[in-house]
Amino acid sequence: MDLTFSDDELAFRDEFRSWLAENPPPPDPGDEDATRNAWRSAWQRQLYEGGWAAPAWPAEYGGRGATLTQSAIYFEELGRARVPLPVNVLGILLGGPTLMVWGTDEQKERYLAPILSAEEIWCQGFSEPDAGSDLASLKTRAVKDGDGWLVTGQKVWTSAAQYSKWCMLVARTDVDAPKHKGLTYFLMDMEQDEVQVRPLRQITGEAEFNELFIENGRIPDENVVGGVGDGWKVALTTLMNERAGLGFTLQIRLRQILDDVIAAAAERELLDDPRYADELAELHARCEAIRLMAWKGLTDTERYGQPGPEGSLVKWLWSDTNQRVTQLAADVVGPEALTAGTLWSYELLRARGNSIEGGTTEILKNIVAERVLGLPRLKAAA
Ligand SMILES: Cc1cc2nc3c(=O)[nH]c(=O)nc-3n(C[C@H](O)[C@H](O)[C@H](O)COP(=O)(O)OP(=O)(O)OC[C@H]3O[C@@H](n4cnc5c(N)ncnc54)[C@H](O)[C@@H]3O)c2cc1C
Repeated sequence: MDLTFSDDELAFRDEFRSWLAENPPPPDPGDEDATRNAWRSAWQRQLYEGGWAAPAWPAEYGGRGATLTQSAIYFEELGRARVPLPVNVLGILLGGPTLMVWGTDEQKERYLAPILSAEEIWCQGFSEPDAGSDLASLKTRAVKDGDGWLVTGQKVWTSAAQYSKWCMLVARTDVDAPKHKGLTYFLMDMEQDEVQVRPLRQITGEAEFNELFIENGRIPDENVVGGVGDGWKVALTTLMNERAGLGFTLQIRLRQILDDVIAAAAERELLDDPRYADELAELHARCEAIRLMAWKGLTDTERYGQPGPEGSLVKWLWSDTNQRVTQLAADVVGPEALTAGTLWSYELLRARGNSIEGGTTEILKNIVAERVLGLPRLKAAA
């Protein structure tokens, strides 16, 4: 692995860095959910107009055909400038790339452009109250009705559903088939009375995700992605893009938070105190290890065409380290970290979800044990 950037990569980095310096986002409007969402939409439109909403997308779909390394540089620069990700992050990183693999020409023509311009926000309707880690056991049903489908069921944890036009929905279309085989992947229009969205307020105070209650929601045939009964393979493409796309941004944000904790500790003259110095040194070493593993993951993906199971190790270490960093921050800054509405209390509370979202730590440990270390599979309890 050679971490020296080529001339092309340096030129790409410098171009985006200058663009960001000349086009900063409008000032952050504070923490009201709807206002924040409008602000992040405006920011995505600004990126879009500058040609920077999704550089990794092929040029024919409005991107720049950036390589994996350039794409990583893009996220590093967004992090370095401390600006938010585009609002339609699920559409850009998950939905668009899934359609590029499995969508029909008509679907690509219809859906890709409004994802980029933030005209249509996307959400991911996979998890259900009884189907999270074991996604294939989901129960939401889709029944054939004329030239379309009627969907009934409940989804949960659906991030950004309250602002979304389209939902990547996986539903069961064949109850008699084995559980991975009876699934179909749909694009469901969220703007219909049959789909009720109830925001769930988290301990951070924000309502990042929602419950969806669907009662005979209508989906036309042309919104099936990848074929009836083939939803599992399409869902895997979405999940693979989730791990690969978001994975890289996480370690950048982690580094920033750690730097902020080090600065806060320096301000309070705590850096010479061995209790803080030891923990900060260990967290620094972990951050570096995670950063290098994330780059190694990219190199492997470039070499072998797809991310390996080692990505699970990065996600596990990241969530564990982020929880430790934010806990240490609370020790360093004191009561401010326990005062609602402060940045530190937000980081401390939001980090609790890290070991659940995008695959729980227990599941990731299973993957690392079985697929990285080659340990025998755990036999399910009878
Ligand atoms: C902030 C956040 C945003 C999210 N956004 C979305 C979204 O937009 N769309 C979406 O579809 N989902 C979303 N999710 C859901 C997320 O993918 C699930 O929470 C996750 O997959 C775990 O599923 P679960 O909550 O049903 O837990 P369960 O699968 O019920 O697990 C419960 C506990 O049992 C453990 N466990 C389960 N199976 C095993 C096993 N085989 N071995 C060992 N331990 C096991 C788990 O680790 C966990 O501790 C989000 C979650 C969070 C926290």
